[in-house]
Formats: sequence, C-alpha cells, structure tokens
Amino acid sequence: MAGDAAGTRYIFVTGGVVSSLGKGIAAASLGALLESRGQRVSVIKLDPYLNVDAGTMSPFQHGEVYVTRDGAETDLDLGHYERFLKTRTSRLSNFTTGQIYNNVINKERRGDYLGGTVQVIPHITDEIKRCILEGGEGADICLVEIGGTVGDIESLPFLEAIRQFAVELGHHRVLFMHLTLVPYIASSGEMKTKPTQHSAKELRSIGIQPDILLCRVDRPLPENERRKIALFTNVSERAVIACIDVDDIYKMPGLLQAQSLDALVLEHFDISAPNADLSNWAALVEARRTQDVTVKVAMVGKYVDLADAYKSVNEALSHAGLHTGTRVDIHYLDSETVERDGGDCLAGMDAVLVPGGFGERGIEGKITAARYARMHNIPYFGICLGMQVACIEFARDIAGLDGAHSTEFVAEPAHPVIALVTEWHDLAGDIQKRHAEVDLGGTMRLGEQRCDLVADTLAARCYDATQVFERHRHRYEFNNHYRDVLAEKGLVFSGISAEDNLVEIVELPDHPWFLGCQFHPEFTSTPRSGHPLFIGFIAAARAHCTASAEAR
Ligand code: GLN
Repeated sequence: MAGDAAGTRYIFVTGGVVSSLGKGIAAASLGALLESRGQRVSVIKLDPYLNVDAGTMSPFQHGEVYVTRDGAETDLDLGHYERFLKTRTSRLSNFTTGQIYNNVINKERRGDYLGGTVQVIPHITDEIKRCILEGGEGADICLVEIGGTVGDIESLPFLEAIRQFAVELGHHRVLFMHLTLVPYIASSGEMKTKPTQHSAKELRSIGIQPDILLCRVDRPLPENERRKIALFTNVSERAVIACIDVDDIYKMPGLLQAQSLDALVLEHFDISAPNADLSNWAALVEARRTQDVTVKVAMVGKYVDLADAYKSVNEALSHAGLHTGTRVDIHYLDSETVERDGGDCLAGMDAVLVPGGFGERGIEGKITAARYARMHNIPYFGICLGMQVACIEFARDIAGLDGAHSTEFVAEPAHPVIALVTEWHDLAGDIQKRHAEVDLGGTMRLGEQRCDLVADTLAARCYDATQVFERHRHRYEFNNHYRDVLAEKGLVFSGISAEDNLVEIVELPDHPWFLGCQFHPEFTSTPRSGHPLFIGFIAAARAHCTASAEAR
C-alpha cells in the first residue's frame, strides 16, 4: 500500500451490541501488555462524529477534552492510552469523520482530484487509510480503536476503510478484535450469547471476520458458552476472551494476559518477543489494597454529575492516592451551590480543588472556595481557571483591589488581574504568533510548553526540578502589570513560562499547601509515576486529615 514502508502491524478494535463496554480500557490494556513484551506501540482513535475535533464539544455530552503534547484537542480515550502506555499520543492519534471530510473537501477545493467526482468510496476511505498509516508510522504495532458500535450508519466508512486496509496490507499484518457484551439474564439464570453472534455476523456482512472476541461479562464465562460463541462466530475457542468486570482497572492487563491475549496477538503477527513483566501493574493493585487513610477532596466545578467531565483530574487524584497510601474520596460540589451557600459547605474537607473551566456560571462560588481554603489553611489546588480564581481572590481580599476580575467574565473590570494577552502584554503580537504556530491558528494557548521553576518554592520542591514541560488549554493569562503589587502582599510566582514571561504557577508560602497552575498537570499523570503536584497535594490533604483527627 502507498505510504507503508515500515512494516507496522495494525490491530483494529471495534465494539458491538452496546456502547460504553470499555473498549478504550481493553485496548489500552492490550497495548500495555504488548509494550511490556518489548513492542513499540502507537494508538489511534477514530471517532464517527462530524465535529472536526473535540475542542468545541460540551463536557455534558462528551466528557473532558484531552489535550495532547502537540496541542490537539481530542477524545478522552486518548487519556486512557497515555495512562496505560508509555507511548505519547499526538494530533495523529485522533481522527473524526468531520476531520476526514474536512481534509477531503480541502483537497477538492485545491483541485487535487483533477475534476474527478469525489465520493465516499474511494476518496473518504482512502483518506481514512492514509491517516491510519500515518498514525502507525514508526511503531511495531498500532492499535486503532473505532468509536461507536458496529451497525451504526456513521461508522460504516471507517469499517469499509479497515476492511480494504486488511486486504491491501495482507491479513498477517492486520488483526480484528471485537468487543461485545454477553449478558446474564437473571430470570432464566443463563448467559446469552446471541447478541454476540449477531454482532459478529453484522461485521462479517461488511467483510470483516473478527480474529479475537473480547466478551464483556459480569461473571465467569462457562466453557460451553465459550465453545458456542466460537462455533457461531468462526473464531477459535482460545480467541474468545472473557473481559470480566473488575473493581480496579489496573487488573485488566493481568486478566487479559492470564487468557494469553498477548500471545495470541503476537502469534498472529508471527512476532517472537520476551515474556511480559506485569509486576508494575500488580504493584498498583496492591497499592490500592493497602491504602490506610481516606481523605475528602472537594472538587468545585460546574459538572458535578459527570465523572467524565473531569476524567483526567479524577485519575490523577487517584494516582496520587496510590503513591501516598491514601484513598481519595472526591466530593463534587456545584460551584453555584458554593456561591449560594457560602464557603461553609466546604467545612470538613481535607482539601479543595478547583479544576479548569470556561464561562461565568458559578465563578463567584469558585472564588469563594479559594478564599475558604486560604483562610482555613486547607490544602488548595487550582488548575487553570482554578489558578485564575485564586489570583482574583488574593487580589480582592489581600491586596485590596476591589473589583479585581478576569476579562472573561466582566468587560472592563476595575482590576483585570486575568486578561487576554492582547489586553495587556506589550509583545502580545509575538506571543500570539508563536502560539498560533503551535496550535494551528486557534486563539487558545494549547499543548506542551516549558515552565521555569523558582528555586526554594513549593513548586520546585514538589517537582524536584528547575524546569518542567506541561500542557495548556486556555485563552486568558495572569496580567503581569499586577505581579509586583500581589508579590508585595505575599503571593509567590513560582513558575514562569520560559519564552513569554507568563505566570504559570502561583503559591502562598504561609499556608500548608496552596498552589495554582495555569497548565493542566492532570494530562501527564500516570498510575506508574503519578504527578508531582498531585502527589504533593494529596500528601498535604493526608496531613490535614491526620491533624484534624488528632485534634478531635
Ligand atoms: N476559561 C479560562 C481561560 O480560557 C480557563 C480555561 C481552563 O480552565 N482550561 O483562560
């Protein structure tokens, strides 16, 4: 196939019967297994929706927007991949139908098709195949997850493209893995394999024969059911793998290995590789089992009913718990409730976290949360908007700058301590130009940038480093014209962007743990290493919890 030189093998992961079966986690766990067997793994997520990227999608519908190192705004599944794998995702790791069409239409406008009729087949499918090849470049094995459920109209072009892909590349270089549901029907006391049979049949009807079936089950899959599934779906018996519900997702790699999933895959590709060493995953499971203190962390945001809206923050808190022996109990608090009822609704919390966010709703509640944490010596972690509200609160209450605000929420505040660079920075043009080069023309500051840490600060101690790279996704910045007056009153600016002299981290020295960062550290936290700021924060929450217990 054109563009294929490297010999990368491809695993296509599709889902059947119902959505939300955990395709992302299953694929990521397989990736982790393959990495531990010495394979270089890359991942691609194909999303059937028409949005060009996830950047404009509401967390209500779509969960969090995950930002890659190179500044792509992507599906939250990429977060699972970065947490499970050592490989890093990029703008080549997530394609939507919208983006594929966009590429094809741009080519058509440029005249690349020389007047030919542009059609779904072959032009859209060719573009999909091109993107898959590009995303797999340099890897031994590329995992490609197809969003949606087989049978959806929307995912048809993707399925057709991967069918062609297998024909063109040869079946020894391509593996189809299909995840389905095998439900247990309580009234008859039986597991039902029919939906799986139908789902495999649906795939076959478009020319794809699955090589491996992952069956999501809530109890062990009896041997006779496994045989039945194999018989009806044309899949070998040992390739019918049970994906049983787990109480800890880090058990997944071990669970799949116990059924030789990695061996099946490598056999299919004729790759011989060293055995997997899953001791790091076992250690994580053990770390969760032995957590001995539970801390209550208030998360003050707008999307309290939606765990997915703050997915990476939740995960990063949980990782920090694994590294400090602490169970982290997250209490979601609606910022509008805090606005209405005041900071006292945070009483009894061991720590307060204000995550990133956009829009005015509940903003005063977030400011109140920062104030309450500051005044009551409760560990505070402000991420992006959470840092901005901490600065606004400090400006108003400690520096006496009445009417301090962000120009995101008030057109002309008396003191625009947070504002667009164009509203205050002398070199705004240069900065915007540089950012635009990185984020392809958006108005957001996106992706990884270098931050220099000031020695002897909380930030420098947490990271134990002098410079770090962290990912951004925001428009507004701390206004440097207010740096001196706030510094005089005791706010410490402990992280500064290397290139643009922008404030990246603020902290309060005479507080047990009070830190805000303009970037999103949650995107780089992994279960294996945790993230220094989250670990520091949870360690402080733990100390707060222990001290309050002793005081009682
Ligand atoms: N709304 C703020 C900004 O654009 C913060 C964004 C965020 O928290 N991700 O600057």
